[in-house]
Amino acid sequence: MIKKVMLGMILPLTVATSSFALPNLSIYATGGTIAGSSSSNTDTSKYSVATLNVDKLINGVPELQNIANVKGYQISSVDSNDVSTQIKLKLANQINQDLAGDTEGVVITHGTDTLEETAYFLSLTTFSNKPIVLVGAMRPSTALSADGYMNLLQAASVATHPQSKNRGVMTVMNDRIGSGYYITKMQANTPDAFRSEESGYYGQMVGLDPHFYYTPQMPMNMSKFDVSKVTELPKVEIIYGYQDTSPAQLDAAIAAGARGVVIAGTGAGSLSKPLLERVKQLTAKGFPVVRSTRVPSGYVDVSADEGIGSGFLNPQKSRILLSLAIGSGYSMENIRQRFK
Ligand code: ASP
Repeated sequence: MIKKVMLGMILPLTVATSSFALPNLSIYATGGTIAGSSSSNTDTSKYSVATLNVDKLINGVPELQNIANVKGYQISSVDSNDVSTQIKLKLANQINQDLAGDTEGVVITHGTDTLEETAYFLSLTTFSNKPIVLVGAMRPSTALSADGYMNLLQAASVATHPQSKNRGVMTVMNDRIGSGYYITKMQANTPDAFRSEESGYYGQMVGLDPHFYYTPQMPMNMSKFDVSKVTELPKVEIIYGYQDTSPAQLDAAIAAGARGVVIAGTGAGSLSKPLLERVKQLTAKGFPVVRSTRVPSGYVDVSADEGIGSGFLNPQKSRILLSLAIGSGYSMENIRQRFK
């Protein structure tokens, strides 16, 4: 049975009948393909995203009631390309509040295109040792062999499992448990879209049982930001590097109001001579330019007069860290250390 309730600041849409023996789980829905549908059951590319609300998602997986007392919250109904700073702030603050109470774990349903950005943002802005699990789908809910419902059930299972604590933000997709900090979308179409190239997965699902490869572990030297009073973050743009890049994109980003810029450079963050010259001028003036790489993995380190190396962070995760760091008023040197 589903009933509607109101709870403090957070307004759950659905609450399944409570059982004291089961852990409390919150499901935060944001949209994406996992909530998508189509008139054709073979359509995996031209469907509509974010058409199912959280009630429908939860009702689509009755097995959830066997593993948790589930509350559903509709945070947004968007394609993940439209997940704004405000949506991410709302998620972080509601999750922090929720997990400080008797909720044992949180699942966030999310579009896969930018899932890694929200996962990384939440890694830096949430403070609980309880599990926070992001989940999406590569096929809409109406597809033959749709992956979303099983992904959701497995994510709920991970989020309520005692061995899932103290592992930071996680992702569950395609039977794999990943680190929200390190995971990246590596394939545009297939259900095995997510990988952590260098760090590997945390574990694997066998049916509904999470099998972790290691004891609880967290990413090294993770920065943390308290966003409980934050309503806006500084604009940071990403530009792309290629042969003979001119500084035009960089100049345009600054003219459009960017307070920092990330460059998806080539190799270990390399730039063309004209672009490097502009980066040096900006660095001398104290304007933060982070140099990441368009290569799927690797470390970027640059000299202090030539910008800020992104370390292991890809451009899209660098954008999030840079924005939080600028918003916190950090000096260039402090920002450099965060990336290092
Ligand atoms: N464009 C969709 C989104 O990110 C793709 C997906 O969810 O897989 O919202």
